[in-house]
Amino acid sequence: MKSPFHVMIIPTLGCPSKCHYCWSSDEGSPIMSIETVREITEWLKDYRSDQVTITFHGGEPLLAGADFYRQALPILSEGLAHLAPTFALQSNLWRLTPELAQILAQYNIPVGSSIDGPEEINDLQRGKGYFKKTMRGYEIARANGLEVRFICTFTSRSVEHKEEIVNFFLQNGFPLKLHPALPSLRNENPKEWALEPEAYGELLVYLLDKYLENLGRIEIMNINDLCKCVFTRHGTVCTFVDCMGTTLAVGPDGSIYPCYRFVGMPEYVMGNVYDRPTPEDLARSDAGKLMQAFKDYVDRECGGCPHIKYCRGGCPYNAIAPTGGEIQGVDPHCVAYKRIFDEINDRVNEELYGSPVMETEDFGSPLRRKAKPGIMWILQTMATK
Ligand code: SF4
Ligand code: SF4
Repeated sequence: MKSPFHVMIIPTLGCPSKCHYCWSSDEGSPIMSIETVREITEWLKDYRSDQVTITFHGGEPLLAGADFYRQALPILSEGLAHLAPTFALQSNLWRLTPELAQILAQYNIPVGSSIDGPEEINDLQRGKGYFKKTMRGYEIARANGLEVRFICTFTSRSVEHKEEIVNFFLQNGFPLKLHPALPSLRNENPKEWALEPEAYGELLVYLLDKYLENLGRIEIMNINDLCKCVFTRHGTVCTFVDCMGTTLAVGPDGSIYPCYRFVGMPEYVMGNVYDRPTPEDLARSDAGKLMQAFKDYVDRECGGCPHIKYCRGGCPYNAIAPTGGEIQGVDPHCVAYKRIFDEINDRVNEELYGSPVMETEDFGSPLRRKAKPGIMWILQTMATK
């Protein structure tokens, strides 16, 4: 199965918020010029021939302002019409104005935003006033017909309040997408807010139970993705595929990186759009070779793991960045991935065969015994959407 081509455009690493666990913003970051957007378009024209998804990410991408999007979106969509580009935006929404929302709505741009639960919990880890500012932007987005989904970052502290957080999403009718707080490499104490892998694994199992308890009342995107991974035996989000080559990010000055998480780290620059590199050129860069070395390492290290086909060693950034670019292991969240993948496999087997020990290759077997909704219900619901 081929992974979709995804390019992230980072108009700036600047951000007006100061979330305590942030690992990616940079106050002095410049804003991308429209000339660089034109260069991105020219570079992508001949880079690959398949459909491309372009996500504006940051820092805070709306800092680039309405004029940037008014010019950039037609340049990209018309210049890359042969690649049928679709767009997305990840933003805290603080700088969303009706004018900006209308520009984004013309291109049907779905917006991913961030709320970590009820106001008190959210503001404790993202900063005072964050919740109200994001909700103000949310109202503007909705009033202008934009679809908004929230990512909820669970930290070592907020995980203690997981029930309150899930109830917040339930009561507001928001789908929930979870993100575990990563060690912040820009912080003196990088692990202060990070969610430990064991706690992350337990949280995923907890969310699976909550999802099944509240069938039809809440959608938990990560659980959907994890179930789909197990069922199709192929990763359906970047964490669980070989993302190298199919995901790229372009920083404010046109530098190309393996993914938005590396933007602003000079050692991970693979090339620059102004030079129009080919996929082979990027693969030959030091960062390109490192990503390939990680893939080879996963093939060796995870070779005996039953989940390798749909896990692929997890996220290379999580594995490589904290060790200064040395490959010393797979994604440290391996413990969490094993925990939830084992759980889903066991439950599927239990639902299909009444025994948690059988292999999962024969999902289509008619030996279904249980009527109680479970993983198969989640899969069926996804299939009918
Ligand atoms: S480095 Fe991690 S976050 Fe980035 S595309 Fe790869 S898996 Fe996704
Ligand atoms: S669960 Fe762990 S060992 Fe298995 S493939 Fe994923 S990272 Fe590798």
